Amino acid sequence: MKKIIWILALFLGTLLSRADSVPVDWGSVIDTLPDPRAFHEVTTIWEAYGDYIQRIEIRDSDVAFLVGKTWIFYREGRLLSERNLHNSHRYDSLFSEYDRTGPVEKLTRGRRLPRSRDLLHAMFGRTESQVREHCVTFTFLNHEVNVNRLAAYALRQVEREIYAAASSDPEVRAFIQDLSVIYSFHRKNVKGSRTLSFHSYGLALDLIPGSYSGLHANWMWSRTYMRYWYRIPMEQRWSPPLAVMNAFKRHGFIWGGDWIRFDCVHFEYRPEIAFTRSSLAAPDWMAGATSSFLIK
Ligand SMILES: [Zn+2]
Repeated sequence: MKKIIWILALFLGTLLSRADSVPVDWGSVIDTLPDPRAFHEVTTIWEAYGDYIQRIEIRDSDVAFLVGKTWIFYREGRLLSERNLHNSHRYDSLFSEYDRTGPVEKLTRGRRLPRSRDLLHAMFGRTESQVREHCVTFTFLNHEVNVNRLAAYALRQVEREIYAAASSDPEVRAFIQDLSVIYSFHRKNVKGSRTLSFHSYGLALDLIPGSYSGLHANWMWSRTYMRYWYRIPMEQRWSPPLAVMNAFKRHGFIWGGDWIRFDCVHFEYRPEIAFTRSSLAAPDWMAGATSSFLIK
C-alpha cells in the first residue's frame, strides 16, 4: 500500500517535467528510502538542482546524484560526497528545522552541526574564480548585484513582485527608497564557523537599509549587550515589509530573520527548503506566519 501511495505521489508531483531527461529507476529509489519524507526530499533536490544532476542511482545502499564528476549521496538529507560519508554524523540535514516553541535556550547553547557544502562544490567548484564563472551581474531594486545563475531567474521574479507591491503599498516604496547597500557574492564564512556562507556561492543577499530605526537586526550585535537576545520580541526586530519577505519566500528564498540566530537583512536561495515547506508545512506559512525557525 505504501508503495502505491509513493508511486501516485510520483506521478502527481513535480517530477514529470524532468522525467524524460534523466532515466531514473524510481522503483529502486522508493525501495531504498526509509519513508515518504525521504522520498519527498530526494525529489525536491532533483526539482531544485536537476539542471546540474546527470544521473540518479542506488549506490552504497543509498540514493546518489551524479553532479559533474562527483557522486553526492542523500544520507538522510545531508547530501555528502564520497569522501565525507564516513563523517556523516558530523553534518546536519539540509532539511532540518527547529521549532520556535521548543527549548530555545538549549538550542542557542547547543553545538551546531554544519550543513555540508558538497553539493554546492560539485555544482559550482571550490574556488572563488570557479564560483564566479557561475555568477551574473544585474540591477536589483536599483542596486548592482552579482548572483549565481541558479538564483538569478528567481530573483528577477522577486523584484517584479516587489515593484508590483510597491505600486499600492507605501511601506514597500519607502523600503526600496531607504535601501542603502545590497551585498551579494562575497567570499566569507558563516559567522563563528569554518563553513562558507551562501554569499560565497552568489546565493545570498543582504538588503541593508539606511536605518534600522533602533530595532534589532542581527543576533551577534544584540548579544554584545543583551544576555537573553533570543527572547527579543519580533516587534523589536527590524524586518523588511511583509510583501517583500513573501516575494522572496515564494521564489525559493529563506529569510535570516526566521532563524533563532536572527540575521534580518539576509535572504538565501534554498529552494529545497522553500519547496518542502510550501508543500508540507501549514498553509499559513506563505503568509509569513511561520512557526518554524531555522538555525543557520
Ligand atoms: Zn547575509
